Amino acid sequence: MSVKKIYATPLEPHTWFDAFESPEERDFRARVREFAWANFEHQRDDCDAKNRCKHLLPLVADGGYLATLVAKEHGGEGQGLGYSVIIAQEMGGVIPSLAAYRAVNGNFVSKPLEEFGTPDQIDRFLRPLCAAEITTALAISEPTAGSDVGGIQTRAVRDGDSWVINGFKQHISGGAEADFILVYAVTDPEASLSSRLTAFIVPTSVPGVDPSDEEQTMGVRGMSHTRVRLDDVRIDDSLRLGAVGEGLRIMFFGLAAERIDISARALGCGTRAFEEARAYAAERHQFGKPLRALQAVSHKISQMRTTIDAGRLLVLRAARLYDEVLATTGPEEASEACNEESSIAKLFCGEQMFWVCDTAMQVFGGLGYEQGTAVEAMFRDTRVFRFGGGTDEIQRHIIQRDEYKRLARSRDPGASGNSS
Ligand SMILES: Cc1cc2nc3c(=O)[nH]c(=O)nc-3n(C[C@H](O)[C@H](O)[C@H](O)COP(=O)(O)OP(=O)(O)OC[C@H]3O[C@@H](n4cnc5c(N)ncnc54)[C@H](O)[C@@H]3O)c2cc1C
Repeated sequence: MSVKKIYATPLEPHTWFDAFESPEERDFRARVREFAWANFEHQRDDCDAKNRCKHLLPLVADGGYLATLVAKEHGGEGQGLGYSVIIAQEMGGVIPSLAAYRAVNGNFVSKPLEEFGTPDQIDRFLRPLCAAEITTALAISEPTAGSDVGGIQTRAVRDGDSWVINGFKQHISGGAEADFILVYAVTDPEASLSSRLTAFIVPTSVPGVDPSDEEQTMGVRGMSHTRVRLDDVRIDDSLRLGAVGEGLRIMFFGLAAERIDISARALGCGTRAFEEARAYAAERHQFGKPLRALQAVSHKISQMRTTIDAGRLLVLRAARLYDEVLATTGPEEASEACNEESSIAKLFCGEQMFWVCDTAMQVFGGLGYEQGTAVEAMFRDTRVFRFGGGTDEIQRHIIQRDEYKRLARSRDPGASGNSS
């Protein structure tokens, strides 16, 4: 006897057609949802089993859903973060790994490349990235540098027209299948953190780059997460991204959009788990009635929906703010202006969507614990959002710090605010 494991359907976007999205955004959401379900829903388990979803990325690019943040003139879709988070949510509810892989390629690396890259770097790396002809990864974390990027020890030393890089990166998503990796390295160990780091475009074909040591993770298994060795890696100075010492600025610019994208992907997982539980509770009968007629279950449905709606508003607010500020000012202002809002969205969605997935599994009972159910996949994949891209604790730190900066500014408009 075959067991029914999927209860949600692709035909339910109207349940999410909210007043706070524009008619264009609603149409876009419906198109992305249809596209994601038609092309990827049946591939989730296969990607997880193979630890790869790279083969699906060209389809994402063909659909026009990869480099949403990058301008059309540079090969992207030119739609901004407001549209990108819709893709992150809808794809995140189908194959969370693919949504993560898309984010790394079409957002976390490509947007800093567009903002800080030379015309040559844009032609050589950004355009093919936007077309999914090549893939990339972002390498910040090291054994000594997690929440504290001041612990980065990877060292780049200038030698004539080239740089020689030595170091070790860990947890690098998509690193094993990347054509190049955006590596942050120390170029001036004596400098303060704000000017100590420089960003480099490191092709994985260069001798000395070894991204083969893959980590076996609990979730987001549809792509590699790897340790990357960099042994006497020699690259030309033309592969430096931005100015020497500008690494932290580039990193923080990337991280602001990254936190919003992560919030949206968490929402995608939570929303899908909710949709599964909502449908299951109407179909499954116990004690002679559907589960949803049992108040203890129906209240879970209400609470999940309310939590998801709150998360959607926080993500939308942060994304709109990012787009607005980036359109009128520079990358530094955009990351600074939406810093607190992106941390609030990330903290809320990371913690609460894990609760939603857990609650959805509770509504399913034993079936939700079985592989092949979307609830099991979403539960497994949603845990990473509480530390990937910055932990809950670090988000709490950022929020209170920015709050006191705001307070100081309101009391004394000339003051910069206490940033501790
Ligand atoms: C699946 C996966 C994919 C990843 N992908 C990438 C990637 O592509 N590129 C990349 O560079 N990195 C990546 N990471 C790394 C990720 O960004 C880090 O895990 C994250 O920043 C936290 O760092 P850490 O794991 O070293 O934890 P730590 O920083 O060691 O923190 C451990 C604990 O201490 C707490 N803590 C630390 N400092 C403070 C503080 N000041 N106040 C209060 N509490 C604190 C933390 O909140 C946490 O609870 C990935 C990680 C995973 C698991």
